[in-house]
Amino acid sequence: MSSQIPVKQVDPATDASPGKKKTEHVELYASRKKIYVKAVTGLYQRIRFFSLWGLMGMYFLFCWVQVGGEPLIYFNLPAREFHLFGTTFFPKDFIMLSGMLIIAAFGLFFITTLFGRVWCGYTCPQTVWTFIFMWVEEKVEGSRNKRIKLDQSPGGTAKMAKKVTKHALWLLIAFATGLTFVGYFYPVRELSVDLFTLQANGWAYFWVFFFTVATYTNAGWLREQVCLYMCPYARFQSVMFDEDTRVVSYDYNRGEPRGGRRKDASKAELGLGDCIDCGQCVQVCPTGIDIRDGLQYECINCALCIDACDEIMDKMDYPRGLIRYTTEHELEGRPSKILRPRTFGYGAALLLMIGALVFTLLTRVPVQLDAIRDRGALFKMNNRGMIENSYTVKIQNMTEVPQVFILSVSGLDTARIIGDTAFRVAAGENLSLPTVVEVSPEALTETHNDITFSIRAEGDATLGANTESRFLGDRR
Ligand code: SF4
Ligand code: SF4
Repeated sequence: MSSQIPVKQVDPATDASPGKKKTEHVELYASRKKIYVKAVTGLYQRIRFFSLWGLMGMYFLFCWVQVGGEPLIYFNLPAREFHLFGTTFFPKDFIMLSGMLIIAAFGLFFITTLFGRVWCGYTCPQTVWTFIFMWVEEKVEGSRNKRIKLDQSPGGTAKMAKKVTKHALWLLIAFATGLTFVGYFYPVRELSVDLFTLQANGWAYFWVFFFTVATYTNAGWLREQVCLYMCPYARFQSVMFDEDTRVVSYDYNRGEPRGGRRKDASKAELGLGDCIDCGQCVQVCPTGIDIRDGLQYECINCALCIDACDEIMDKMDYPRGLIRYTTEHELEGRPSKILRPRTFGYGAALLLMIGALVFTLLTRVPVQLDAIRDRGALFKMNNRGMIENSYTVKIQNMTEVPQVFILSVSGLDTARIIGDTAFRVAAGENLSLPTVVEVSPEALTETHNDITFSIRAEGDATLGANTESRFLGDRR
């Protein structure tokens, strides 16, 4: 792994006073050089095309598509409800949401150990939006050479028109991104109307503006600098790599010594390897590095240099794969293993957590029942000679539809609830019920007695819950 620190070469002529020690100036800050990425076609670019447009499509659609009257993904913060793919989660389900995030993190570690930074190259939002912005740039300003010429040309109406069009389109995409992001927290149909009729609340305007600016800046201007200087994952991913991690690599043994030649020239006679030093792999690289310098933290494993080099190899009638997905062991001519302690470790942890999450999801009861004894009075005798205790019973309906629940109590002979026992609870509602239970004094065996409150949904015996409580009273 090499980090490039530009080294200023010292001209001995300017530093040649007798006896003076030569000094070497190392620049620790280098201003950014604009990268003009050349478009390339090939297998990996096609895979990226489908994965990046697919992910973009999902992002823009998921807040609009509705299931059972609720968006596919919607975080209703004021109501503390999280709608994910037709299931509503409540704060008590946070453990499951945390579990999903932990699984995502371990999944990322597992994949990185096997295939390096494929997340960065094919799915990271920064890559997705930069790809879209570059696509727009190419459509408006033309190929790499045309863009370089345009930037070097003096200002004029044509140049201005292209620049204004590009930035306007970028801002439009950035605004759509900001609006969609806020649409995951604010019903997107209402938001789209409220925003333009000035009816939305101040926070909605703030966040739409914030994400518009962030998208425009990150994907339009900062691009690879986000990966190089801001993303923590780029810095620590190397600890997950080993000699069997499959990453984009240049086959040094096959390619060197590099050098230009005619197509019909003999490599053997010239004493050259397969690399014709055309620089195509550098021109297509979105982070502007040369993969021939070895594994670098700037490499996002996008494989565009593979496509570029394969095209050159085809033209030269050389076998493809001078740059390819391979492992350090394979490059050294040694066998490579998929199953190794690191993959076993991450794989086992991942399977364990997926199993625990699936079990929790399958055994999740979408109704919650609590019974809290009123602390004001211990108990009282009513006019029928029965002992009464008062409770606050809470029923939370976590299903997607309204339910009628039948409340009952057990654990003591003669125990019964005074008053109504059937309650309609709306989807997502947390109903609070003052409840009185009476028991005959003869049925009490202790002063403190265990009782159980239960609810069952009308018409669905499998949907219900129980909770324990205490019944206090004098024994006879
Ligand atoms: S594209 Fe291939 S042949 Fe051309 S410089 Fe890069 S490695 Fe060498
Ligand atoms: S070196 Fe190749 S794989 Fe790495 S970022 Fe550049 S083009 Fe992508």
